[in-house]
Amino acid sequence: MAAAAELGRAGLAVSLIDERPLLGGQVYRRPPSEFSIADPSRQGKHFHDGARLIAEAQTSGAQLLSGHTAWGIWRQDDGFRVAASGSDGGGVSLVAPQLIVAAGGYDRPYPFPGWTLPGVMTAGGAQQLAKAQRIAPGQRVVIAGSGPLIPFFAVELHKLGVNVVAVAEASRRPGPVAAARFAWGGLTGGAHRLVLEGAGYLAYLRRHGIPMMWGTAIAEARGEDCVREVVLRKVDGDWNAIAGTEQSIEADCVCVNYGFKPSVEAAALLECDFEMNNQLGGMIPVRTSETETTVPGLFCPGDGAGIGGSVLAQLEGRIAGLAAAMRAGAGDKSRLAAAQKSFQKKARRFRRFKRALDNLYRVGPGIRQWWTPETILCRCEEVTFREVGEAAREVRDVNLVKVTTRAGMGRCQGRYCHESLSGVAAAAGACETSRLTPRLPIKPVSLGTIADEAAPARRNVPHGKPAVLS
Ligand SMILES: Cc1cc2nc3c(=O)[nH]c(=O)nc-3n(C[C@H](O)[C@H](O)[C@H](O)COP(=O)(O)OP(=O)(O)OC[C@H]3O[C@@H](n4cnc5c(N)ncnc54)[C@H](O)[C@@H]3O)c2cc1C
Repeated sequence: MAAAAELGRAGLAVSLIDERPLLGGQVYRRPPSEFSIADPSRQGKHFHDGARLIAEAQTSGAQLLSGHTAWGIWRQDDGFRVAASGSDGGGVSLVAPQLIVAAGGYDRPYPFPGWTLPGVMTAGGAQQLAKAQRIAPGQRVVIAGSGPLIPFFAVELHKLGVNVVAVAEASRRPGPVAAARFAWGGLTGGAHRLVLEGAGYLAYLRRHGIPMMWGTAIAEARGEDCVREVVLRKVDGDWNAIAGTEQSIEADCVCVNYGFKPSVEAAALLECDFEMNNQLGGMIPVRTSETETTVPGLFCPGDGAGIGGSVLAQLEGRIAGLAAAMRAGAGDKSRLAAAQKSFQKKARRFRRFKRALDNLYRVGPGIRQWWTPETILCRCEEVTFREVGEAAREVRDVNLVKVTTRAGMGRCQGRYCHESLSGVAAAAGACETSRLTPRLPIKPVSLGTIADEAAPARRNVPHGKPAVLS
């Protein structure tokens, strides 16, 4: 949205593709347009924060292709081709000399015994249900995970009327030195408001008697047909389970989020260079200060290129939009360059805060021991840790493990199991590759959609437009 706004202001033709029916992305999502909002003051802070940005994108002059899923992406002589399928069954195919991919991220769940039971969901899934659809994810909800959003998820769900019975944060409660360092990072990073907000969420949980359990992780979700009971246990500083500390809580829903992973599928398909950065979510595209990848004309701002949060995503979107506008020779170059410089300065400052935040929450290596051999590793194809371990000992290559067991080859294409898959493969002596071989389509689509794309006469190809894939 921010990139489209900058490109539109510079007078360029832009297409903005988004699979959601309404603009807003993950954090500024809106309730469906059929819902009437009786009291906007009760919609939460993101509803109001996002209104200005959404209006900017709506009035940018961009062709808005909401409700369109980009499933195919290719490089060609005159730039990039993007195929998107609409929720109404139609499809579009766009050709653009420059492409901005801002696909965001997704919750990082970790397998544990019982994680495939109905009632276990990602925190983002619960947030979507409660925030956008006004549906409580359960009657008694436990939130387990790690990161600054864990208390926020709890407060948000509680304010929407959900009965949150416990919040388990795997990291230890920050001591005075770590807290002071973090507060300093917030101050110097221009994010003091976010630091205060974080403290406010913890105070809210205390006021409402919702236990915030530091150094505690999920051990198991139990139940015959759905979650009836959640077992939590203490973990040490490396997230190794501490035996004998298990405690059971009656609950019908557990929301898990051990951080986020960037959606890098499109960037991977376009074969740009990647680098490993655990704090930013794993393998991320190598980028310049303008967010351009090693593929010329391909920009990747926001969480889709490394988890940085919504403030940074917006700044990077503007930086990318201005870079693409200057590259296209649009607008007043010195004005655009000055604006870009100012956003880059703010982004650099904000990254200082993000680093301070990351120091408080690090995924501990012990997380790789939270499963048993019979725990399902790949939920799409129902493959267990035992099966993956046995295959890895035989074929010693993670991509061959994938082919022989089908782990990572289902509907989510390894988004939820790849990390476990490569970890288990490495532990069994296979070479660990940090990325699986990407394949089209990026998201599941019907065969008819692909057939339409393959028949050039049926394509709608507006040439020469820069496309923003948000
Ligand atoms: C599950 C979840 C919950 C979060 N909750 C919070 C929160 O409560 N508070 C907070 O401050 N931050 C939250 N965050 C973080 C915050 O949402 C992000 O930092 C911020 O939204 C990043 O902005 P972005 O533009 O990079 O990505 P997003 O806002 O995620 O936007 C990406 C957009 O790309 C679209 N898209 C992706 N793939 C395709 C495709 N193939 N075709 C078409 N469109 C596509 C998506 O529909 C989406 O609209 C959450 C993140 C996630 C993943």
